[in-house]
Amino acid sequence: MSAIESGSAPQRVAVVGAGMVGLATAWFLQERGVQVTVLDRTGVAAGASWGNAGWLTPGITTPLPEPAVLRYGLRAVLSPSSPVYVPPRADARLLRFLAGFARHSTAAKWRTAMQAYIPMNRRAFEAFDVLEAAGVESRTNEAKSFIAAYRTEAERAVLLDELGHIHAAGQEIEFDVLTGAEAREVEPSLSDSIGAAIRLHGQRFINPGEYVHALADAVRARGASLVTGADVVDVRDEGAGVRVVTSAGADERYDAVVLATGTWLGELARRFGVRTVVQAGRGYSFSVAIEHVPAGPVYFPAQRVACTPLGDRLRVAGMMEFRKAEAPLDQRRILAIAEAARPLLRGADLDGRIDEWVGARPCTPDGLPLIGGTRSPRVFAAGGHGMWGITLGPLTGQLLAEQIMTGRQPAELRPFEPLR
Ligand SMILES: Cc1cc2nc3c(=O)[nH]c(=O)nc-3n(C[C@H](O)[C@H](O)[C@H](O)COP(=O)(O)OP(=O)(O)OC[C@H]3O[C@@H](n4cnc5c(N)ncnc54)[C@H](O)[C@@H]3O)c2cc1C
Repeated sequence: MSAIESGSAPQRVAVVGAGMVGLATAWFLQERGVQVTVLDRTGVAAGASWGNAGWLTPGITTPLPEPAVLRYGLRAVLSPSSPVYVPPRADARLLRFLAGFARHSTAAKWRTAMQAYIPMNRRAFEAFDVLEAAGVESRTNEAKSFIAAYRTEAERAVLLDELGHIHAAGQEIEFDVLTGAEAREVEPSLSDSIGAAIRLHGQRFINPGEYVHALADAVRARGASLVTGADVVDVRDEGAGVRVVTSAGADERYDAVVLATGTWLGELARRFGVRTVVQAGRGYSFSVAIEHVPAGPVYFPAQRVACTPLGDRLRVAGMMEFRKAEAPLDQRRILAIAEAARPLLRGADLDGRIDEWVGARPCTPDGLPLIGGTRSPRVFAAGGHGMWGITLGPLTGQLLAEQIMTGRQPAELRPFEPLR
């Protein structure tokens, strides 16, 4: 129950975190007449929401823990140039995360978690369309081509198998199987090393940094205050309201608060009963000039490298590094991504990199986000989307705003209970 417990729906709400998830929640709360304050300790899109690959891909939005990831992960950890990195001396929290992740990496658990994603995936674009129709300035782009490319047919078998599982679970995804030459015809930026490919249909992409800034502008234009440099250190439910305290000593009371702090979710949410570990799965990206800018995302699954056209450049992203979110950018990871992509792309200036970036995917051991109420009727959680917080961010905001204001949990959010 909430809205709020039995009394009235909240009128003043603080959202902590100005990433895709926090800003989308703020926007949809405003739709319902709420006066919103968004607080971020750094600024808009300061976390994972800036340098990610910007794929809006409900057709392949699936839980991260699955049997193949586990097999792959164990092998990969032993290789220094691997796209998955686990520090040799994991701390207790990371060990808890890895143990939970391994426990969830079974075919049966994957199928159950997939059933939680499907209703969300079905509505993911709809939420973007609501934002677009209401004038959020940045647009989503239809992926005119979306190519997963491989050196060999044998490498391709892994994704074909996965697409089979996705389809069997009930998720719609249309695709064609292409030869290397057919793939190059669609996408001339692929090199001669590509010998097999899959073309996915019906997906979209955005420039995520630009999009999230446009969302922030819209939230501001609709009357919210957006406070940057506000490091929230304490949230206290005082019965009649909830206090939000920053490290600079600012102390304000609201009717409710939404914690949308990405990989840092646990820091404030734990005291409200949210026990699921949110672990940083750090990824890297940069952008390069390329002779032929692809008409949509290009994915090299065997190398775990994701490319996205951003204007006249190509963003190249990859790595899953289970380290502290705050650790400095490790230049070796950037070079590993560049070297992995070099033989597979044609005409890409991989030495002329700009915007080198590292950011942390908020990963949960069961691969499901945490969206909904907590032990306090005034404190809500919205985060832990792992690889898919951009695709599912707007819908998360839309559904959570509905729950906060009506006191009823939308059916789609049931599997994502933060107190599970
Ligand atoms: C390399 C890479 C590629 C990716 N590609 C895709 C993709 O193609 N498609 C997709 O859907 N997803 C993708 N993702 C995942 C996606 O980026 C994340 O799931 C998403 O950005 C999470 O958004 P968020 O709003 O929850 O968190 P964030 O964007 O991290 O925002 C959290 C915010 O909270 C603030 N904050 C934290 N603690 C506090 C505090 N105590 N007080 C005040 N502010 C605080 C931070 O400053 C930050 O701005 C990718 C991620 C990476 C790393």
